[in-house]
Amino acid sequence: MQQILDDIAAEMAQEIDRGKVADYIPQLAHVDPNQFGIAVATPDGQLYSAGDADTLFSIQSISKVFTLTIGLGTLGNALWTHVGREPSGDPFNSIMMLEHESGRPRNPFINAGAIAVVDAIMMGHEPKETLAEILQFVHFIADDDSIRFDHKVAASEMAHKDRNASLAHFMKSFGRLKHEVDKVLGVYFHQCSIAMNCEQLARAGLFLVSNGVNQHTNARVISSQRSRRINSLMMMCGHYDGSGEFAYQVGLPGKSGVGGGILTIAPGKGSIAVWSPGLDHIGNSKLGLKALERLVEKTGWSVFSD
Ligand code: GLU
Repeated sequence: MQQILDDIAAEMAQEIDRGKVADYIPQLAHVDPNQFGIAVATPDGQLYSAGDADTLFSIQSISKVFTLTIGLGTLGNALWTHVGREPSGDPFNSIMMLEHESGRPRNPFINAGAIAVVDAIMMGHEPKETLAEILQFVHFIADDDSIRFDHKVAASEMAHKDRNASLAHFMKSFGRLKHEVDKVLGVYFHQCSIAMNCEQLARAGLFLVSNGVNQHTNARVISSQRSRRINSLMMMCGHYDGSGEFAYQVGLPGKSGVGGGILTIAPGKGSIAVWSPGLDHIGNSKLGLKALERLVEKTGWSVFSD
């Protein structure tokens, strides 16, 4: 595995077309596109990594996997009255389908859906308590208490909130959001701002590799049924309108973020975190996708073969 990752990192270092760094907030626009990191955590406790695997980056929408897990833990199946679980085929920040579906977002991984999940887990809590719960959960699954929010990124998101605020107000107009829009957005922007490196992120995904148990810490995080279901949502909806392409090329559940990270789960085999800030036209990491294609070619990891 170490050799495979070293080879992939060496190949990615040669790539000239690295995509375009997200520029909707200055904090992301300033990230150097010439970076690439990859890490694989396996259930037997091994961690392999190459490239810039210990450089912190903004996990952005990858955090939606963690808040979905918390939401299902808090509300159980009642969460599905707040959000659907169908692929959208739309960009991450699209408002179109919300109108057709009376303000109920299609799935928890588009922005509107993640905002609805945040609203649901805020029930009975102050925003600060919800934020503490999210961070504590990430510490637990990654087995690492050093992970933090990046308050500058969160503040920058708030200063450029127009599109997400529109989604939230639109849902509220259908009676779908219970809390004040700015409070919900404050929590949502902080969850997106969590800074992690590939090694921490790979470890954080381990509970989805082994039927809900983090084999590294021996902790059961969720039931095996819930772990299977979260993986299937990642497979169907994890890459916005590029989800079909990701399933075709990589064949594993994954979730991308506009910070250039992708968390990918090979059930029973390993949790893979890859990061390179340049994005393709859909908003998924260009080299991240390429690196994952190489990894599955070399390892044969896929949910469609044994
Ligand atoms: N914070 C970003 C936004 O809401 C997340 C987008 C993403 O990573 O896809 O625009």
